[in-house]
Amino acid sequence: MQASKRAFQKLLISTILTVIVMFSVMGYLVYSGNRITTKYTPLLDAAMEMMLETTTAHLWFMEVISGDKQGTIEKVRQHLDKADWYAGAMLEGGRNQEEVILPLTDQALRNSVQIARRIIAQFKEISHLRHARSLDDLAGSNIDQRFDRVFKEFLSVAGDVELKLQQKIQTELAGFRLIAGGLIVGTLLIVMFVVIKLIKYERDQLRHIEHIDEARGHIEAQSRQLDHQANFDQLTGLPNRALFMDRLQQALNHAIHEEHNVVVMFVDLDKFKSVKDTLGHQASDGLIELASRRIHECVPEEDTVSRFTGDEFGVVLTAIQNREKAMDMANQIARKINLSLNQPFLVDGRKLILSASIGIAVSVGEGCTAEDLLRKAHIAMHHAKVEGGNNQKFNTDELNEAANQRYEVEQALRTALVNGEFILYFQPQWEVESHRLAGFEALLRWNHPKKGLVLPDYFVQVAESTGLIEEIDSWVFKSACAQYAEWVGQGLRPGRISVNLSPGKLHQRKIANEIADLLLEYEIPNQAFELELTETSLMENSYRTHKILEKFKQLGVRLAIDDFGTGYSSMAYLRDFSIDVLKIDRSFFTSLGKDPTAEAIVRNIVNLAHALEMQIVAEGIENMQQLQLVKELLCEYVQGYKLGIPISSVEASALLASDQAQSNPHFLH
Ligand code: C2E
Ligand code: MG
Ligand code: MG
Repeated sequence: MQASKRAFQKLLISTILTVIVMFSVMGYLVYSGNRITTKYTPLLDAAMEMMLETTTAHLWFMEVISGDKQGTIEKVRQHLDKADWYAGAMLEGGRNQEEVILPLTDQALRNSVQIARRIIAQFKEISHLRHARSLDDLAGSNIDQRFDRVFKEFLSVAGDVELKLQQKIQTELAGFRLIAGGLIVGTLLIVMFVVIKLIKYERDQLRHIEHIDEARGHIEAQSRQLDHQANFDQLTGLPNRALFMDRLQQALNHAIHEEHNVVVMFVDLDKFKSVKDTLGHQASDGLIELASRRIHECVPEEDTVSRFTGDEFGVVLTAIQNREKAMDMANQIARKINLSLNQPFLVDGRKLILSASIGIAVSVGEGCTAEDLLRKAHIAMHHAKVEGGNNQKFNTDELNEAANQRYEVEQALRTALVNGEFILYFQPQWEVESHRLAGFEALLRWNHPKKGLVLPDYFVQVAESTGLIEEIDSWVFKSACAQYAEWVGQGLRPGRISVNLSPGKLHQRKIANEIADLLLEYEIPNQAFELELTETSLMENSYRTHKILEKFKQLGVRLAIDDFGTGYSSMAYLRDFSIDVLKIDRSFFTSLGKDPTAEAIVRNIVNLAHALEMQIVAEGIENMQQLQLVKELLCEYVQGYKLGIPISSVEASALLASDQAQSNPHFLH
């Protein structure tokens, strides 16, 4: 740094000196050139004037000799005076109208000018003498001959002065050119030198900066490496305990805000110590690495898997909407982890099978810290270990029981799908004005091998949170369509058939195609098929939801909102999506007479629906008071125990037949 500063200072001084030299040279050249012209041009002019004046004086003197004496001698004298003045100016300096004549410095030239001056003086003298005698003397006298001789001598001297002056100018100019050339070349060399230095300096600086950048990159890489070492496990590359705790705390903070649940899983490999003793240090490290990869593959990408120490791993599952879902998810992942670890590993030519004891803790609202949750998961892991490992345990008995139950239901649901244990019941919907059977809502029942006929309350939530509902819904759609076609085949007119569409199924790809294919296969008029959607599934007013509902509309099936009024959602979707039917939730009718606001709410829902050209199905009508209100409010359809509970397909066939047979129908028969 210091060296670079010194180099810069040197360069700055050199540049300043170069600029000074350049200006000095330019100044000197201007001065010298100017000096040659201001000194020698007037001198040359003076020499020429001296010659001219003397020659003119000589001409006038010839006039005097030829006899023209009228005042001419005066002109001779005047011209000789002028010639003398120029000679004097060349020696002493002088100024005429045009220029300043500087005195000659060259001694030889000065001598010549002095001789010329003396000759001019002789001229004067001879011219006076000749004039004085001009009356008696004849032309060609002695004086005249002397005069001629002196004049010739003058011409020779003056010519010599002029020639020498010209030579002097040439010499001075040649010298000037030489010096100027030398100076210009010298200055250019200096400038080149400085420019080269500047370029070199610039290059050095760049190299210097590159070195600094390189060093910085190196430091950054090192600090990244240190950072990585501080936050990640060296063997598996997974986040270490410190980073795990950090992410867990962040997930908890976020969960409180978003009302989500966070799950921590403590995964401990079973009997790993004996595996390690058998394999040795290096091979067991390799096994840990392979196991960590398998654990990682079982966990959603957005969640964290960490290696704490040895054979201990941690998993954080975030952003799970409810406790039941969190439990199901944790259960599934834990099982997946054990199934994956149970697959043989190939280490040093040996096949090995691993298993893990997994403790699971689910966050419970505010005040739950990362440390708490991990501790709970750790304790639960010990319970799992005590029970023989290769399993999972939640941190409380209550949760364990619930989780086990849910797990049992899930397993039983899978079997039910395979064994065809589901059946459909049909609840009639009546047209209020005509009192005729308008159609049925298909309701799912599970013919459980041990429990008998099971209602959806028992299994729908597990089916939804495990995703099984999508397959179940498909079964319902197909069975409902098949039943409809069977009724038609029996010569019955089933009117409409409504099916419930779960939120997960609504957002499934190709759902519209699935329904379109079924309607085509069973030749069901599209308008006769009604899909019951929940308010919550429309709350996510997304582009995707829009697209799906648009497809349903193009297909021409009817869309109903089930349990309307319980979803606490904004009703903007009623404007955005074209809905045909609102099914007012049964809770409003149950509250009639007890809660004074219930009737007002029902009235407003009906008004809103009619204003938006939607129809109403009043659900859960159990008594006359409720039915009275339904009629009074001009609801289009009604459904409820008062008018018919869900019945089997055989009973539904009979109901259809009897309704068709009646000429004067009344739904309270
Ligand atoms: P939901 O779609 O609102 O169905 C109406 C529920 O109210 C049915 O219960 C029906 O039996 C009951 N209900 C009808 N009238 C009355 C009444 O007057 N009083 C009383 N107390 N209850 C009445 P269910 O069959 O137990 O179904 C419960 C829920 O399970 C359904 O509510 C629906 O959300 C779901 N579900 C039923 N079947 C299916 C299905 O096939 N697929 C899907 N995804 N969900 C279904
Ligand atoms: Mg329904
Ligand atoms: Mg309902």
